Amino acid sequence: MPSPLTPIMEFIDLKTQYRELKVSIHNRIDRVLEHGQYIMGPEVHELEERLAAYTGARHCVTVASGTEALLISLMALGIKAGDEVITTPFTFVATAEVIALLGATPVFIDIERDTCNIDAGKIASAITPKTRAIMPVSLYGQPADMDEINCIASQHGLPVIEDAAQSFGATYKGRKSCNLTTIGCTSFFPSKPLGCYGDGGAIFTSDDTLAQACREIRVHGQSKRYHHTRLGVGGRMDTLQCAIVLAKLERFDWEVRRRREVGEKYRQHLFRSAAPARMISLRPDRDCVWAQLTVLVEDRAMVQARLKAQGIPTAVHYPISLDLQPAYQHLCRSGNLANSHWAAERVMSLPMSADLDEDGVRHVIDALVGGCTRLERGYLTTGEGSYPP
Ligand SMILES: *Cc1c(COP(=O)(O)O)cnc(C)c1O
Repeated sequence: MPSPLTPIMEFIDLKTQYRELKVSIHNRIDRVLEHGQYIMGPEVHELEERLAAYTGARHCVTVASGTEALLISLMALGIKAGDEVITTPFTFVATAEVIALLGATPVFIDIERDTCNIDAGKIASAITPKTRAIMPVSLYGQPADMDEINCIASQHGLPVIEDAAQSFGATYKGRKSCNLTTIGCTSFFPSKPLGCYGDGGAIFTSDDTLAQACREIRVHGQSKRYHHTRLGVGGRMDTLQCAIVLAKLERFDWEVRRRREVGEKYRQHLFRSAAPARMISLRPDRDCVWAQLTVLVEDRAMVQARLKAQGIPTAVHYPISLDLQPAYQHLCRSGNLANSHWAAERVMSLPMSADLDEDGVRHVIDALVGGCTRLERGYLTTGEGSYPP
């Protein structure tokens, strides 16, 4: 327990952002309350246009959550029982959940140890006649190897769905996450890089037919009112939540820049210090939005306790590789997932937000360094790039 005198740091500081945007947020909410179109109101269309323009994708379809975005995308692609979808086991459960919900089999491919993203080099050998799609995750806010993945997919005529729930605002070779593959799906869960004040999400595509299918599935599969031409869901995003995201867009470019700067500060301080932690690697051809500022540590429980005692919250994204989750063990297919199992024991996320200043970063690093054992320090000196296998 931190002593009563130790200030507790925010893991994700949403309060400063709210203070900065308060007037705009309230104005936007008031406007919705005045016009009263709580479902599919003008803010929904305004947000879809703004976000499509931001990513460069032809279409944006807002939906009830990031999970719903993934589910509706798979439904639009016609994924059904008996199909296989290739993905990563080292992600939030929703990625595999939506595959299994449709009766399809998640086929787990191992990750790279340094980025924790899917190892694109291992995808081709997992493709079978039943494979219907590839679903990489841009974990922690860094896009996966999309060119390599798109190339394998096009050789086999497969669509690619980017689970970009953590990477809205990130770029890959100058292109925006969500517009890197056949379909991109993001989430506006409050703690994501672009969040609302509840649940929300969006689907991005430049394929007109897929976009239309997603729009219909979002409203119970109706092609026109009370004409249900396909199976759908109740998957709309509320007008109020869209209004909140619109207000947050005012500051979003600044926030993305700040997140990169804060990530860079963490990297510099960690590299120079004797902290027993190493940051996730960044590939030089992409920019990360740091949905999670994740480091790899040995003795994670001990390090977390040490930070907690100094008022610094941490989290683990994610402690169990999905192939080992009770509900998924028997319905997934997987080969060697040694790296995913290895990472699940070592990842630890540190406080991160656009409003975290350099003193905050230094405070976290000092707490990481303070009191670490000589053994841990020795471990650190392996430096960047050559993490011990
Ligand atoms: C947050 C998240 C989701 C789900 O988004 P919700 O809006 O919470 O449904 C899916 N995939 C990943 C990788 C996520 O981080």
